[in-house]
Amino acid sequence: MKPVYVDNNATTQVAHEVVEAMLPYFTEQYGNPGSMHTFGGEVMHAVDHARQQVADLLGAESPTEVVFNSCGTESDNTAIMGTLLSYPEKKHIVTTKVEHHAVLSFCETLERRGYSVTYLGVDAAGMIGFDELAAAITEETAIVSIMWANNETGVVFPVEQIAELVHESGCIFHTDAVQIVGKLPMSVKDTKIDLLSLSGHKLHAPKGIGALYIRRGARVRPMMIGGHQERGRRAGTESVTNIVGMGKAAELAQEKIEQEQTYVQGLRDKLQAGILATCPNARVNGDIDWRLPNTANISFEFVEGEAILLLLNEHGICASSGSACTSGSLEPSHVLRAMGVPFTAAHGSIRFSLSRYNTEAEIDFILEKLPPIITRLRALSPFGRDEQADRSKLDYGVGMTTPGDL
Ligand code: PLP
Repeated sequence: MKPVYVDNNATTQVAHEVVEAMLPYFTEQYGNPGSMHTFGGEVMHAVDHARQQVADLLGAESPTEVVFNSCGTESDNTAIMGTLLSYPEKKHIVTTKVEHHAVLSFCETLERRGYSVTYLGVDAAGMIGFDELAAAITEETAIVSIMWANNETGVVFPVEQIAELVHESGCIFHTDAVQIVGKLPMSVKDTKIDLLSLSGHKLHAPKGIGALYIRRGARVRPMMIGGHQERGRRAGTESVTNIVGMGKAAELAQEKIEQEQTYVQGLRDKLQAGILATCPNARVNGDIDWRLPNTANISFEFVEGEAILLLLNEHGICASSGSACTSGSLEPSHVLRAMGVPFTAAHGSIRFSLSRYNTEAEIDFILEKLPPIITRLRALSPFGRDEQADRSKLDYGVGMTTPGDL
């Protein structure tokens, strides 16, 4: 059975055009782009072409501002650590409570290494406040790292304005744009963004490839030290096939970005409206207007998100939940918690994230299967009748990757 895949913020299907573009670099053009001979030089051309394709998607001034690496996590870690190493006299970082763990866990590690971090809160819609941000920046602040779009709720921060504010105070501004690149148009050269993270597998390229945009002149010490690849900014022989794939994926995204955005948003809105019309006590989490076109995070009160997912899975529907059970602690998502979403709603939240490959028939299928699942679980759930019921009796997997990690 072909899955009905609505978990595209976790990862995406690799576009067949991307696979085709990559294939020759496995079997025919397998040279090392760093080699002196023509065979390797041709491969370097392919890498440069991909760099240009990614720079075009971002609206960067120059392709040299794009540094390929292994993933979004590496980009986030490098942006923060590379900046701190460039400004050793500054020991303070500003970020938000709703970042991906690629930023949050890294910042927590930095705190243990003697840095100080301010985590900005968000309001009920998942938005940060400019006054709080301005107040958090001090003489000690080296870098402000604020995501462009949230992976769980799809909430989009006004990052261009945030970057202006941060620049006025003389700090470096980094944005984790992993979820927005390829989904909404951007022109980074017209902003004050210094550093921007992106990841191939979120935009129909393979897993294991990412990039960090480094505005010309921004000082970022490398994390990987070795050869001179990527102009000395990221050592290690280039993952040519993946780079070529990421370039092609960027080109495809750019070609049809507005058309796709309209298409995907139409599907998402139909799904959301259908759910709200058929499932009582359902609510959308996150700002309705400032949101990625592909994402709907919906809470079904008094029902466990994991139970919904398991029953959806029986129909081949792949979504993800907003509660976290990595440690068996049943802690709800840090993002929903920061937004003040009530416990009973945060635990029953499901993220639907769509892509260009979803169809209207799939949305109809979800709308047929989901409402009876919610009715069934509500009837069974002790929480539907008594929210104080003993949660420890429920059996949860330990060590699962949670939606907050994806
Ligand atoms: N940042 C955000 C917002 C993400 O959603 C993700 C992945 O889910 C990452 C960073 C990490 O990206 P990668 O999986 O490429 O390391």
